[in-house]
Amino acid sequence: MKVINYGKQFLDRNDYISVEKTLKTDFLTQGPLVEKFEKKLKEKFGSKYCSVVSNGTAALHLLGKALGWKKGDVILTTPMSFVATTNCVLYSNAKPIFVDIDRNTGNICTKELKKKINLLKNTKTKIKAIIVTDYGGYPSNWPQIKKIAKIDKITLINDSCHSIGSSINGNHKYAIKYADFVTFSFHPVKTITTGEGGAVLTNKKKIDKKIKLLRSHGIIKDKSKNFWEYKINELGYNYRLSDINCSLGISQLKKINKFVNKRRKIAKKYDLAFKDMKNIETLKYKKKYQSSYHLYPLKINFNKTKLNKNLFFKKLFLKKIKLQVHYIPIYRFSLYKKKFKINLKEFPNTEDFYKKIISLPIFFSLSNQSQNKIINTIKSII
Ligand SMILES: *Cc1c(COP(=O)(O)O)cnc(C)c1O
Repeated sequence: MKVINYGKQFLDRNDYISVEKTLKTDFLTQGPLVEKFEKKLKEKFGSKYCSVVSNGTAALHLLGKALGWKKGDVILTTPMSFVATTNCVLYSNAKPIFVDIDRNTGNICTKELKKKINLLKNTKTKIKAIIVTDYGGYPSNWPQIKKIAKIDKITLINDSCHSIGSSINGNHKYAIKYADFVTFSFHPVKTITTGEGGAVLTNKKKIDKKIKLLRSHGIIKDKSKNFWEYKINELGYNYRLSDINCSLGISQLKKINKFVNKRRKIAKKYDLAFKDMKNIETLKYKKKYQSSYHLYPLKINFNKTKLNKNLFFKKLFLKKIKLQVHYIPIYRFSLYKKKFKINLKEFPNTEDFYKKIISLPIFFSLSNQSQNKIINTIKSII
């Protein structure tokens, strides 16, 4: 039997046909499908503009560059995310300041966010932006975050790599409704995949234009003088997404509702299986916020069992079930710990969450039988 991982892509015949068709055209890099995929994403997620790029990290990097982040700028962010969420701050030599999370959901704590902003205001520190992640796919308290950011006109970014397909009160266009910028990743473990791939969505024309410029070396076509002429005024990158990737993205996007519905069904079954178990805690999600379930996080009180997390992982791996931990808090990495004076006591909720949290396998093709095996194995071990 094969090992069951925490996440996995799903491709069908239509995906293969779509890519094969592209392989037979003249466009393997930038062709008509780039704009077509962007148009589909704009329609689906309700933004005026969209730029697809080579991956989710590139999306964040370009966004920081387009917004002109520089040394001395302060960006508030969550420590409970993939490291790329804050690496983009370092790319611009700006300074990330971490805010503790809500231990019920893993999302940024709005009370702590407000506290931090007021504290920084007292020291006359200008806050350039707030980067929020919808942990595991569960939407953060966006109405509240928006309210807080509005007071000081702070730019809001939703690193929405987990929450492609999530919704608030049934509205799956909520991300761009609340945040100024939304970033996606189409890595194979995410809701839909293009292999590698990412996107920035926004309603701000100028920034979108800048991102499109920077994703392709900063080249401005200017044939007014000579046929071959172009201008380069600033340092750009090659962060383009190819037509091959876009053709996969277009056909994957058609399946997004199917993907999310299946993930929700799997999550419901886990919820039911674990809700009344001693030493196990499911996350407390409100009904009006609907997760895409990029992850199914579960809290286990290892302190109160005879196990530790490592032993637990080992026992499950012997049954060919491979769990994950999302995430090691970003401030714990020496890259961050050394550079910014981190005091773990400032993050009691994040630390407690990290001790307990594990991610169970959740993906479209996870069979009922496999899920039963996962549930029964965990129940017999705990
Ligand atoms: C996956 C992910 C990224 C990075 O995306 P890549 O496409 O792998 O570069 C960034 N932020 C979060 C929250 C992610 O989950």
